[in-house]
Amino acid sequence: MTGSANPLESLQTQLDEASRHVEVADDVLERLRHPKRVLESNLVIERDGGTLERFRAYRSQFNGDRGPYKGGIRYHPAVSRDEVVALSGWMAYKCAVVDVPFGGAKSGIAVDPDALSAAELERLTRAYATELRPLIGEDRDVPAPDVNTGPREMNWLKDTYETLERTTAPGVVTGKSLESGGSEGRVEATGRSTVVAAREATAYLGRSLDGATAAVQGYGNAGWISAKLLDEMGVTVVAVSDSDSGIVDRDGLDPAEVKAHKDATGNVLGYDGSDACTNEELLTLDVDLLIPAALESVIDATLARDVSANIISEAANGPITPDADAILAENDVFVVPDILANAGGVTVSYFEWVQNRQRVSWSEDRVNEQLEAVIVDAFDSLCRTVEERNIEIPRTAAYVLAIERIDRAYEQGGRWP
Ligand code: GLU
Repeated sequence: MTGSANPLESLQTQLDEASRHVEVADDVLERLRHPKRVLESNLVIERDGGTLERFRAYRSQFNGDRGPYKGGIRYHPAVSRDEVVALSGWMAYKCAVVDVPFGGAKSGIAVDPDALSAAELERLTRAYATELRPLIGEDRDVPAPDVNTGPREMNWLKDTYETLERTTAPGVVTGKSLESGGSEGRVEATGRSTVVAAREATAYLGRSLDGATAAVQGYGNAGWISAKLLDEMGVTVVAVSDSDSGIVDRDGLDPAEVKAHKDATGNVLGYDGSDACTNEELLTLDVDLLIPAALESVIDATLARDVSANIISEAANGPITPDADAILAENDVFVVPDILANAGGVTVSYFEWVQNRQRVSWSEDRVNEQLEAVIVDAFDSLCRTVEERNIEIPRTAAYVLAIERIDRAYEQGGRWP
């Protein structure tokens, strides 16, 4: 489920909102409203039956002032240029908020991965890696997983790049499997930071997670891990959903069992003892915590009026439209913005890249401890910015932090070119 709002317009509105609180000139801000460059490719691969098929693919490199471009690759039928550009911008701001030394980029291929065999997906990924080859590199642009991609696709990308370049360069892509140079804790990282951010927000508001309830929209990697970690922290997860349907059980769901049910049947519907609900019903359920973990713009102004949760921690990128943000703030719903809440993914990508460059590997405990420290620190900076500058919407404060950090790097480099 995606809303109808244009994500690029949302990003530009979010920047305009933040610009009222920063001392950065309009001409400098204008630069941060648009991508540096966008690659658009037509990938043609052979289907298993022997026919050829074309797929549209994009890579948007939004901003590289703070380091190599960085961002995931999404496989989804609804991928569009504006969506990929917006997602690349959010990556640039996200890396700045958690102070990871990367810029922002994003890829999307307009494809339904469920309609392709594993062999076809491999041909598609290798075709895309071949297109990307001149643009990417350990110090240039470092892709990663996003919606519907994971370690398998990242391993293919690394292998294609290394084979064509006749070298080894594991840091050219992150989110690989452990055996191919991935990091402990990377698969769980997005869900982990979403939950750490929710925990920090709960404490900031003087509330307790003890006995709290949660609803999670989306049961891909970020959603299911969020549900699992919330459950481990003693939160009762009462509802979850996937792109087909939602399920609710006020007595609490067992996230691991729901995952097993989804793996076996293809969706969460029909899980033992649960009732079906729509995505809209899930998003407006009477719970303490709401975790949107699917796609953009799912909470618009109309839906925002009916949100009952006290805290939203955004595992997805861009799930709340700007006008919905204003309504949620009016209704005292505390939103931990995506560019902080889900930044665990890129933070552990950074750890993976560091390990690859040094040819070492860290323990899972070390990864999780360092991730926790980064997210807690970023959350504290966010709250300080909210208070010191009297900003009503936490997302706006996150943008203020990001814009100032990116602008300082640009300025110190001499604003060239
Ligand atoms: N796709 C993830 C995100 O949206 C991770 C990106 C990365 O690790 O580079 O943040």
